[in-house]
Amino acid sequence: MAKTYSIAIDGPAGAGKSTIAKRLARELGYRYVDTGAIYRTVAYFLDLWGVSPKDVDGVNRYIDELTIGIEYDGEGLQHMIMNGMDVTADIRTQEISQKASLVSAQPKVREMLLDMQRDVAKTNNVIMDGRDIGTVVLPKADVKIFLTASAEVRARRRTEELTAKGQKANYSQILREIQQRDYQDTHREIAPLKMARDSVKVDTSELDIDQVVAEIKAIAGKKIPL
Ligand code: C5P
Repeated sequence: MAKTYSIAIDGPAGAGKSTIAKRLARELGYRYVDTGAIYRTVAYFLDLWGVSPKDVDGVNRYIDELTIGIEYDGEGLQHMIMNGMDVTADIRTQEISQKASLVSAQPKVREMLLDMQRDVAKTNNVIMDGRDIGTVVLPKADVKIFLTASAEVRARRRTEELTAKGQKANYSQILREIQQRDYQDTHREIAPLKMARDSVKVDTSELDIDQVVAEIKAIAGKKIPL
């Protein structure tokens, strides 16, 4: 099998991982894998069945009924398929963000999703973003980036993004939710959000998208042919 390259981008909610990873994937011709969307699909499925994301027994009982598919459209955009249904748009709510963060702490869920994520990287050059890509999913990734920004900057960006879409957004509430998710994601027992030892930290607080993309390309270019 031909050698494939992988770039892992981890970091907290709202640091700009998906925007940056999508741009890089397009420019480098890599496949972009948004692993948060997979956890969101699990949370959405359990929500439909009225199972609390904290209910260990409930999750264990229902999870085998779930089949997750990842498909890519002509533009390389990732679609999440839940038991045959495209739920890509449905999983993008604040409520599902919180539920995904809670359900992702459950061992059975993480175990079930591990191979699915690794399989994509076996046959494709990938840019994969998430919380545990450099530490657990692809510990041998060729390039590891830890993308971060202050909670205030992340909340402000999210508020502006929602307002631009014509949706109601309350900065203080969004900041609280981001801080809560940071806490949950960094304090869970299994695969918590943390920087891999061999990862390079990029703080996006004072940078625009072009600057972040340029910085990551410079880091990646030292390790892999671009
Ligand atoms: O990245 P996104 O905000 O879509 O992720 C939703 C939630 O899924 C995160 O808050 C995190 O708890 C979980 N997640 C995870 N491991 C990943 C990706 C996401 O635990 N690799």
